Amino acid sequence: MVQPPSPLLPSSGIELQPGMPICQTDLPLDWYQEEFKPYAEEYMALPDRTPETILPWLDRYVKPAQDHFGDALLLLAHYYMGGEIVKLVERYGGAISDSYALALQAARNPEKKIIVESAVHFMAEAVAILAHDDQEVWITNPKAGCTMEMLAKDHMVYPIADQLIERYGDDLMVIAYMNTSGRLKALAGSTGGAVCTSSNAHLVVDWARKQNKKILFVPDQHLGRNTADKLGMDLAKLVTLPNPQVHGANYTLADGTIDGGLPALDQAEMILWGSYCGVHTIFSADMVRWWQERGYEVHVHPESPLEAVRAANGSGSTAYLWKIVMDAKPGAKIVIGTEGHFVRNAADQAKRRNVEIHHLADIPDPAFSSAGCGCATMSRNDPPHLAGMLDLLRQGKGPDINRVLAGDNVDETTGRRDRLSDAERAELITDAKASLERMIAINEAGPKS
Ligand code: SF4
Repeated sequence: MVQPPSPLLPSSGIELQPGMPICQTDLPLDWYQEEFKPYAEEYMALPDRTPETILPWLDRYVKPAQDHFGDALLLLAHYYMGGEIVKLVERYGGAISDSYALALQAARNPEKKIIVESAVHFMAEAVAILAHDDQEVWITNPKAGCTMEMLAKDHMVYPIADQLIERYGDDLMVIAYMNTSGRLKALAGSTGGAVCTSSNAHLVVDWARKQNKKILFVPDQHLGRNTADKLGMDLAKLVTLPNPQVHGANYTLADGTIDGGLPALDQAEMILWGSYCGVHTIFSADMVRWWQERGYEVHVHPESPLEAVRAANGSGSTAYLWKIVMDAKPGAKIVIGTEGHFVRNAADQAKRRNVEIHHLADIPDPAFSSAGCGCATMSRNDPPHLAGMLDLLRQGKGPDINRVLAGDNVDETTGRRDRLSDAERAELITDAKASLERMIAINEAGPKS
């Protein structure tokens, strides 16, 4: 079901501006793996952080690696990467996209054998699940995790999912947002379910409902709720499971921890895992209205709370938001509610076309205390990590904890990973791939948003 080879993603159009600082906040030196410290020390010693100083330094490491690996090397980065990494990766011929398009890159480009991703772990792992046996996937910083995914580790979700499966049997289907580990994608696959992204969640949930399934949607409660709302579902038939930060999996379906208990679960159409993205949960309907009252059009990502999504002029995936900005006519005034680095890159691009872009939380009014922020964990991939990863790989010294294999359970504090045995991994890949391939089939058959 995976499609044949396709050209790499088109350029994002994001450009490095001469003299513009590469404003990556320095990580403390002891945050780097030992192997990466020499690169970090050189980087920190550069006289400033403009392309004029950083590019010649990066060239010293990236170009020999490109010469060494030739066409077999593929660099990938997500739109949310900070510190201009997206611009650097694209400058070296890499591809920038959202998590859906990134996941397909290895599978659709089998000539790429060494895939180096500057993003968070679940994105790299999705690439690894769909990769061919002779393709290697590496992440530039194994401590780069997604906080939403970190609140839905398998040791949290499995015990609750097991209880739900025991109660509802084959009627229960798990739908796993792309922001999950391979272990949860495999759980979805084993229940006949599918993965989804923010651009196709409505198609996947609709597909599950047509089979009369009760859905366990993991991990993002907001995307689940917004998807139900978009589909016109009765929101009274949604149950949100307790905050995993507070309760973990230390409860039973019947012990009173879940609002409404078993009767609510029994009548539920969709059960939402209680995780969320700290970057997106700060958005509110009041913020949306503040901008709209001043003549701005507001578009938000569906990881935002329902009230903000309902108040906005539109909502959709990262790709949707990028298109809104790129298609805007000169003179347009647009506000975007999503990750801060993305909005900054979008604003840089739009300014040249006389389009005004602001971040939803960037409100010059003390009544609004929240400041918009970037994805801090994704920004753990900085220029020293990119230079070091490529240089170490060229030397045949890629550290094992940077190698991404399907099913790895990563400790984002240390970067260490628990690996499955070969047999366990093969089983996981079968189920996780099934859930990803179901999404691809549903996505490619249906309308986009
Ligand atoms: S922005 Fe939020 S959902 Fe996206 S990777 Fe960062 S923490 Fe995860």
